Amino acid sequence: MTPAPAKVTPWSLEVAERACPRWLACEIDERPGTRTAFNRWRIRNALVARANAAHSQLRAPRAEDFAPPSNLLPEESAVFREAGAGYVRHFGGRDVRAVAHGGARADYWPKRNLTVGGAIDLTVEDGDGDLELRQLELWGGHVCADPARSAKALCAVLRLARVASGRRLRVRHVDLLGDDADEWEIDWDRDLPGLAALLDERVAVVRDRARSPSPRIGQGCALCRHAEDCPAHRSAGTPPPPTGLDDVRADDLVGDIVRLSPTAVESWYRCRRAFRARHLLSLPGRDAGPGGANEGLLVHRLLHRLHQEERCGDALRMADLAESHSGGEGVDPARTLGFLDRHARRCPRGAASVGHERELARAWFGARPLLMVTGTIDAIWSHGGLLDARDYKCGMPQVASLRESAEARVQAWLLAPLADELGLQLRLRHEHLSPDATDDPDPFEPDSEDLEEITSELTGLGVAVGAEREWRGVSAESVCRTCSYRSVCPDVASRRAGEMAGPEVL
Ligand code: SF4
Ligand code: SF4
Ligand SMILES: [Zn+2]
Ligand SMILES: [Zn+2]
Repeated sequence: MTPAPAKVTPWSLEVAERACPRWLACEIDERPGTRTAFNRWRIRNALVARANAAHSQLRAPRAEDFAPPSNLLPEESAVFREAGAGYVRHFGGRDVRAVAHGGARADYWPKRNLTVGGAIDLTVEDGDGDLELRQLELWGGHVCADPARSAKALCAVLRLARVASGRRLRVRHVDLLGDDADEWEIDWDRDLPGLAALLDERVAVVRDRARSPSPRIGQGCALCRHAEDCPAHRSAGTPPPPTGLDDVRADDLVGDIVRLSPTAVESWYRCRRAFRARHLLSLPGRDAGPGGANEGLLVHRLLHRLHQEERCGDALRMADLAESHSGGEGVDPARTLGFLDRHARRCPRGAASVGHERELARAWFGARPLLMVTGTIDAIWSHGGLLDARDYKCGMPQVASLRESAEARVQAWLLAPLADELGLQLRLRHEHLSPDATDDPDPFEPDSEDLEEITSELTGLGVAVGAEREWRGVSAESVCRTCSYRSVCPDVASRRAGEMAGPEVL
């Protein structure tokens, strides 16, 4: 019996076990969903086009093959130039010719009734006709060329089987902005049956989970195209019909849905240009931020673990965790233990846990662009009629009371439906665990009026993001100093002549 038609991508295969089942079901059925801007593809598509042009004849790539196209923004051009140099670093010195692999269109395999999509970055052949698949990493993801361990390599290799028709194929996956690289040799006779069976196995997981497509709210909602009619977001209201063109305009970085998070909202207020770079273009940060990022991640991870084990406050266990985990992250164990201790003193021990690292999503569909807000809350307890939510912080407090913090207001808005559902009063607290911090800001216990105000703040913000066209940078020394785009931003405060990276200022 032929199975029902299904469409998969490397991404849906990779997250099959943990993704929202309703999202999987919509994806497998190829439901079109809300118009979305895929801004990450802007740099990647331009790079692949430049590389293909360079290899239109049998030759090695050169630095001058990678001039940034004019449609890229200055911040994107900087990444593009670095990635182009990375391409030459990884693949220079080898004469190859581009091979048309038809990878822009998804492949349909009738026997399996299966459509396989996703990106095949570049296929080339050398003078002997041996093939090489080049997968390009731009966002610091893990590189892996082994199709048995990477869904991206698996799909690409199987889709190339026809083009290869028995020729040798080498898979290379490289980080264009770094040195990481992996390669894998395919022997079709030896590997093909096993890889095809592996694909069938992965597809079976997707089909199986999509069979009972209950929605599951989480961070996945941030990237979901199928939220408009999702029962989990019914309270968001009925969206007005789309009015725009069918395709997202090239200069429209938002599409039909604005995706926000507590940090994104804060970033919007601080600098719209930085918001665009980070939250719309997903550009990798290039300059070191305020520092201590590793330390923050470690502290969050250890506190999560302690609460899972229900051993928060257990001095021996805390010392043990701090000791065994700090070294690898380049953090001092005694300092780490200090963070854990300062939380333990604030911990409502004995209270019922409502969740740790709890993923929340809340939408508003009153206008287009639609609004989807997602966030993760570090710890939530319930006791004495309170929904007691905490965010662990490793930096210094910036406000005296949390109601002044944009981040906290968004967190409260995300938490409000949960408090409602449990019949509890929400109290949000930021725990500043750094040894230099003294008092935490006053906690935020929003009443219904506060929450209505935040609703109109956020819905107004959704409209403003959709309408923004200028994206002017704030150009304030105090903000730019810690911005991770400061070396490539034309609006940075106090730039002296000649400091700008790249040729624009010459
Ligand atoms: S909006 Fe969220 S819950 Fe609904 S289908 Fe998408 S990922 Fe699942
Ligand atoms: S350098 Fe300054 S103006 Fe430019 S994006 Fe960063 S904060 Fe904004
Ligand atoms: Zn605790
Ligand atoms: Zn936190």
